[in-house]
Amino acid sequence: MEMVYNKKNMDVIANLWDRTGENSMVCPKCGSKMILIQLDPIQDYQNPYVAYDSIIECTKCEYEIKTESFTILGSVKSFDLKEIEIASWSPSGSRVISCYEHILDYSLLKKLKDSGELKEFLVVNKQVVQIIG
Ligand SMILES: [Zn+2]
Repeated sequence: MEMVYNKKNMDVIANLWDRTGENSMVCPKCGSKMILIQLDPIQDYQNPYVAYDSIIECTKCEYEIKTESFTILGSVKSFDLKEIEIASWSPSGSRVISCYEHILDYSLLKKLKDSGELKEFLVVNKQVVQIIG
């Protein structure tokens, strides 16, 4: 069992995701599908989301990564190749702009920014890795 939670691990997690959005996570050890499991919520009322202690685990072998994840509902305010700004709301209803690193597809982000659509972004270890809805 491998449990790591540090900066180096962020790169590992980023590499698990396939940028096309299909077949989202692949185990670096055996190539099987990996799944994200959200455990206990981490309480922090400052944030416009609820973060969870999470585990990304392989469905075949014992490889797993301990991490923190959350989803945030918002729209793309701005982005570049490395970072994205998401416009969302705090629990009290005020507008919040959050900035994260991302591994998303540039043309997809451009499309979302132009349309202003509300989407749910999956953030793992403070990095946007996938758009869910
Ligand atoms: Zn595996």
